[in-house]
Amino acid sequence: MCADHVFPRHTRVDLPVVVAGDGAWLIDANGKKYLDGCGGAAVSCLGHSAKPVLDAVKQQQDTISYAHTSFFTSEPAEKLADKLIELAPDNMERVYFVSGGSEATESAIKLARQYFLEIGQPERKHIIARKQSYHGNTLGALSAGGNMWRKAQFEPLMVPSMVHIDACHYWRFAEPGEGEFDYGQRVANQLEEMIQQLGPQNVAAFIAEPIVGATMGAVPPVEGYYDRIQEICKEHGVLLIMDEVMVGCGRTGKYFASEHYNIKPDMICIAKGIAAGIQPLAAMLCSAEIYRAIKDGSGFFQHGHTYLAHPSACAAGLAVLEEIESRNLLERVTELGAKLEAGLQKAFGQHPHVGDIRGKGLFWGLELVTDRQSKSPFDPKLGIAGRAKKAAFARGLMIYPMGGTIDGKSGDHILLAPPFIYEDEHIDMLIERLALALDDVF
Ligand code: PLP
Repeated sequence: MCADHVFPRHTRVDLPVVVAGDGAWLIDANGKKYLDGCGGAAVSCLGHSAKPVLDAVKQQQDTISYAHTSFFTSEPAEKLADKLIELAPDNMERVYFVSGGSEATESAIKLARQYFLEIGQPERKHIIARKQSYHGNTLGALSAGGNMWRKAQFEPLMVPSMVHIDACHYWRFAEPGEGEFDYGQRVANQLEEMIQQLGPQNVAAFIAEPIVGATMGAVPPVEGYYDRIQEICKEHGVLLIMDEVMVGCGRTGKYFASEHYNIKPDMICIAKGIAAGIQPLAAMLCSAEIYRAIKDGSGFFQHGHTYLAHPSACAAGLAVLEEIESRNLLERVTELGAKLEAGLQKAFGQHPHVGDIRGKGLFWGLELVTDRQSKSPFDPKLGIAGRAKKAAFARGLMIYPMGGTIDGKSGDHILLAPPFIYEDEHIDMLIERLALALDDVF
């Protein structure tokens, strides 16, 4: 049935054809069933047959499926924005809807720059981000990210005003004998040092993932880290952008992951779970202060895309939120997350090649090492995480792999981000299949 004209990302791999989705399962053309253990890439938070969301999209498409935002606003966009602002940290006021995570982070970065132009501080142009981070694949977002595997070959195209400080990953990077809190303060203070080096008057924003996703594998910050980061940003008038593209929308048991760490950012980016993958949707939320600077200034955000606030996508987002609320799925994420954590610790806590198990809610990472004591990463050329993905897929389980970074700073890992609608037995099944897959690899 395939006509060999789709340009796949992996050009030498033959992929099965997916023909159906049913809750936690995906089914291929041969009838083989795959348990979704990663939501694709932390996307499918309601699984694969969320009828109320499908119905909401159909109803919206029967009403008005698309209208350009230079002419109209739409009811689903207005309603979804109201809902998101209700849930967001209390300084958030406006929502800018786009179609994907990279568009959301690019929007935030450009809005930070424009904000400072509007308020008469045109010298603020630097964006500080972190190593071993990921903010998207378009050039601006890629420049902000610190995943060298993704960006190395595009280095000549990267934005020079974007600079990087160290990540916050105690297990991998702490000095011998250094306590968690002291480590967190030390790496947070790198932001202060970088701001001083660049000149505070030249820095626009700091962007980070509250829990690092794809590059390091579900690494939460240590206590006190974000308190210090916020103090530094505030002191120097540097905007704080939280990239919650992967961990927002309930994935960690709160709608916004920033809430776990009492972070009050100036902007938040969400995507992935916002419309559960049923429609392409993402959003950038910003504070009243930023919005007002534009409104009272030029009156125009100099950034946009054709599919801004797409009505069908916003209708999906609204229906997803209604599902999360009416089915108490945030509590369910916390409950299932505790079961997943306990199961992972039991199955892999002593595994010779699982060095670390970390995460929050339904967002977990397993770091694969040559041996637990030395924590040595595998040679990235071995493609260990990719082999684990392949073995798991053969056993009917989807997991999200990430190879070690080419700077050797971060090892291979596996990311787990199952749908919130899992039954308890799906957690057991995921762990059993993952154990068999790791046996196949090692
Ligand atoms: N930011 C983070 C934290 C992500 O994890 C991702 C994607 O994985 C992105 C941005 C980019 O999102 P998208 O792939 O939808 O452009």
